[in-house]
Amino acid sequence: MRVDRALVVGAGIGGLAAGIALARQGVDVEIVEVKPDARVLGVGINQPGNALRALDTLGVLDEVIAAGFTFGGNEFRDWKDTPIVYVPSGLGDDRVPPNVAISRAALGEILRKAAIRAGARVQYGVTVDELTESPWDVTVRLSDGRRTAYDLVAAFDGMRSPMRRRLFGTAYEPEFTGYSVWRMPLPRLRSLHGLVAFQGDRVKGGLIPLSDELMYLLLVTPEPGNPRHEPREFGRLLAERLAGFSGPLGWIRDRIEGPAGIVYSPLMQCRVPKPWHRGHVIVLGDAAHTAVPHLTQGAAMALEDAIVLADEIAVDRPLDASLTAVADLRFNRVRLVTDVSRAILDGEMAITARELPGAAADMRMELPSQVAFVENQLNAPYRSAHTRRARVRAVAKAGSGVTGH
Ligand SMILES: Cc1cc2nc3c(=O)[nH]c(=O)nc-3n(C[C@H](O)[C@H](O)[C@H](O)COP(=O)(O)OP(=O)(O)OC[C@H]3O[C@@H](n4cnc5c(N)ncnc54)[C@H](O)[C@@H]3O)c2cc1C
Repeated sequence: MRVDRALVVGAGIGGLAAGIALARQGVDVEIVEVKPDARVLGVGINQPGNALRALDTLGVLDEVIAAGFTFGGNEFRDWKDTPIVYVPSGLGDDRVPPNVAISRAALGEILRKAAIRAGARVQYGVTVDELTESPWDVTVRLSDGRRTAYDLVAAFDGMRSPMRRRLFGTAYEPEFTGYSVWRMPLPRLRSLHGLVAFQGDRVKGGLIPLSDELMYLLLVTPEPGNPRHEPREFGRLLAERLAGFSGPLGWIRDRIEGPAGIVYSPLMQCRVPKPWHRGHVIVLGDAAHTAVPHLTQGAAMALEDAIVLADEIAVDRPLDASLTAVADLRFNRVRLVTDVSRAILDGEMAITARELPGAAADMRMELPSQVAFVENQLNAPYRSAHTRRARVRAVAKAGSGVTGH
C-alpha cells in the first residue's frame, strides 16, 4: 500500500524527524503538536554518534555540530573530585563525531526548520480528538475541528502518550524508577571539554558542555515515593542533595542562589511489546519506549525510529507488513538501550560512600570493555538490508564512498 498522506502526532525530536524523513520521500505530512508554540523547554541533550548519524541522514548534521559542543569519551570521578577512569568513545566514524551535546532549544529549532524545508506542515496548539479506522485509511478529527483521512498516523507524542493509551489502554504506562534527575544550565567552566560524571554516596552528579559558553549540571538522586517538590524550593533542595560533593560540583553548590533554571525530572521507564501499531496508527519514540537517560540514547532511538518508519513504508507491500517490520527492526535495539540504561542507573544508585573505593576499582577494570560492548551494537547498521542495498546502489551510481549505515 502506498502512503500518500500521513499525520504525525507530536512535534518533539521524533515527530519532527519523522516529518523530515516522510516528506523527503514525497509523503504529504502534517505534524500536530499540542503545545501552543515551538518553544522547547528543558536544558541540554547529548547526541551520541548513532544519533548524529541519524541527524546526518536527515540532512542536519552540520547545523547540529555548529550549534553544539563536540567531545570524545566520558570521564568518571568520585564526589571528592578524585579521578576514577576516562572511557574513550568508540561511537561515530570519519564523518560523525562520538558525541555532540546541544541545548534542547537549538536542536528543536534545527529539526523544526528542516521539517518545514522538507515540506511538512507543523501546526501548534492542535491535537487528535477522535480516530476512526476503516480498512483503507484512518479518519482523524483534530481539535481545530478539521476531519481528514490519512493513510498513516505516526504518534511520537512522548512518554505520557495519549495515543499509546488509545491503542493499548493503560497496560504500558511509564513506571517511576525510584530516582530523579535535577538539571541546571550554567556558564561553561573553561576546563570542561566533555562529559564528566561524579559518583557519590547513592547519588551521581555530572557536567556536560553544551556550547563554548554553556554547560549543564545534572544530579541523579533517590526520591522514594516520587514526591512532588515545590519549584520555588528547587535551589535549596538541589544544594542539599549536593552536600557531600567537593570539586566543581561543591563549588557550584555554594553559589546556587535560588530555583532559577533548575529542572527536576522523575526518571520513568516503559516499553511497549511488539507490534507497535493497530490498523493505520503506530506509536514510536518515547511513546513506545522510554529509557532512563544513562546512555543518552532516548533521542537517538526516536530519530532512528523515524528513519526506519520512512524506509519501511516505502516498500511495496501492505501497510500492516511495513508497520510490523518497523517494530521488528527496532525492538532489540530499544530493548538494549532501555535495559542497559536501567542497569547503569540501579548500579550507580546502589554504591554507598563505604563501597566507593571498591566500586572505583571495578569501574577502572570493567567500564571500558562494558562501554565498548554496548557502543559496538549502537554503531552497527540499524536500517533494513533492502534499504542499505538501495543506498549502496544509489551511492555507487553517484560515484562516492559508502559507509554501510
Ligand atoms: C532528564 C532527561 C535527560 C535526557 N537526556 C537525554 C540525552 O542527553 N540524550 C538523549 O538522546 N535523550 C535524552 N533524554 C530522552 C529524550 O529527551 C527523549 O527520549 C526524546 O525527546 C524522545 O523524543 P520523542 O519525540 O519520542 O518525544 P518528545 O521529545 O517528548 O516529544 C513528544 C511531543 O509530543 C507532544 N505531545 C504530547 N501529547 C500530545 C498530543 N496529545 N497531541 C499532540 N502532541 C502531543 C509533546 O508536547 C512533545 O512536544 C532525556 C530524558 C530525560 C527525562
